[in-house]
Amino acid sequence: MVQTQFPAAGTEKNKVLEQLQALRGEDANWRDGRTWSLVYYGGEEIADLTRQAYQLFSQENGLNPGAFPSLRQMETEVVSMTADLLGGGSGTVGNMTSGGTESILMAVKTARDYARAVRPEIHQPEMVLPVTAHPAFSKAAAYFDIKAVYVPLTEEYRADVSVARRLINANTILLVGSAPAYPHGVMDPIEELAGIALEHHIPFHVDACLGGFMLPFLKDIGEPVPDFDFRVPGVTSMSADLHKYGYASKGASVVLYREDEYRQHQFYVRSDWPGGLFASPTMAGTRPGGAIASAWAVLHYLGRDGYNHLAESTLQITRRLQEALIAVPGLHILGNPQMSVFAVGSEELNLYAVADELESRGWHMDRQHLPPSLHFMVTQAHRNSVDAFIDDLQKAIEEVAARPEAYAEGSTAMYGMVGSLPDSSLAHGFMRDYLSSMTRKS
Ligand SMILES: *Cc1c(COP(=O)(O)O)cnc(C)c1O
Repeated sequence: MVQTQFPAAGTEKNKVLEQLQALRGEDANWRDGRTWSLVYYGGEEIADLTRQAYQLFSQENGLNPGAFPSLRQMETEVVSMTADLLGGGSGTVGNMTSGGTESILMAVKTARDYARAVRPEIHQPEMVLPVTAHPAFSKAAAYFDIKAVYVPLTEEYRADVSVARRLINANTILLVGSAPAYPHGVMDPIEELAGIALEHHIPFHVDACLGGFMLPFLKDIGEPVPDFDFRVPGVTSMSADLHKYGYASKGASVVLYREDEYRQHQFYVRSDWPGGLFASPTMAGTRPGGAIASAWAVLHYLGRDGYNHLAESTLQITRRLQEALIAVPGLHILGNPQMSVFAVGSEELNLYAVADELESRGWHMDRQHLPPSLHFMVTQAHRNSVDAFIDDLQKAIEEVAARPEAYAEGSTAMYGMVGSLPDSSLAHGFMRDYLSSMTRKS
């Protein structure tokens, strides 16, 4: 039941907290490893630390760095430590943001405004990005009036470099690559893309939202991870999410730039506001002190050793899951995923039906298309759920095989409809209606 009227009287504190606990009852059970997305769990100690750190600064505001030297120092350290981790030099600068999307919005806006300054002849700016790049980039294109030009994938699910080269033209203001991309967990050929960017003198953003706090540690423990960060000449900006494999509380990411001169185009300033001189580095006004403190706390708590240890353990769980999955007839892993995020496809099985059946068994599944696949993001939460999952997966496959007609509705029908539309406006309308309905009263 949703309450629609503003509460006339207050409720006792303990009662409110009880109600909050009760509200969680229907939520996805991430703690027992029954979800494959959304919550990046590093273990109870880390969860406890980040919660306490957040609490300490939950009232403080990072808007004005002068008022809270504590937050200013923490943010400076988080940004510098991340730059150090990602091969930044003495000139590398950045800011904390509320998440990957804000980091990406900032990087795209910075590229646009940089182009306005140094290439004023461009009137219709374009951004060249792999189709697998996070929708935050196309969102940025929509918000900031930039044309998104998509690079198709090779059979390995990586951006096709030769096509990327051809798509660059006199209007291109930014080239994008992912390390790795979310859908298949596969890294784009960062060095090759960076080479093209250098050749054409255009900025190149590497989106390491997912990999920024995982790939460096996999490298440390001897995994064959190619260079993907500021060590690669031509990389001008990067995004890395602290609230993913950095294990910080939600609301923490870093956007980095090779040079401050370039970052200048990120800032917004206004000097004639009656409220005083106004300067803001990122999209947000008020910024939660808790998110900054939580990120600072976990980086210090774990250190490189702690992250290496977690990366190794997470990779082991991932391999255990992958081996069990590919042992199931009809399933295969798409491309060559380097870390703990990957997708499973099938030529024979109806994966949407299998996912529906798994959901009825208490798993939260992430469906993808183009091609149909199921998405997996592995964390410490899955340490004890892999075997149960494979059990249920086998049962789900048998159920679907026995009664395929029972699964014709559900996500099979939905993805079938989206896939059969000649133009996507119908799907867009349908998805807008869905968003509206999520916050409507009835
Ligand atoms: C999660 C993610 C983003 C967006 O980050 P949010 O924090 O969800 O806004 C961008 N790029 C990649 C590769 C991601 O995995």
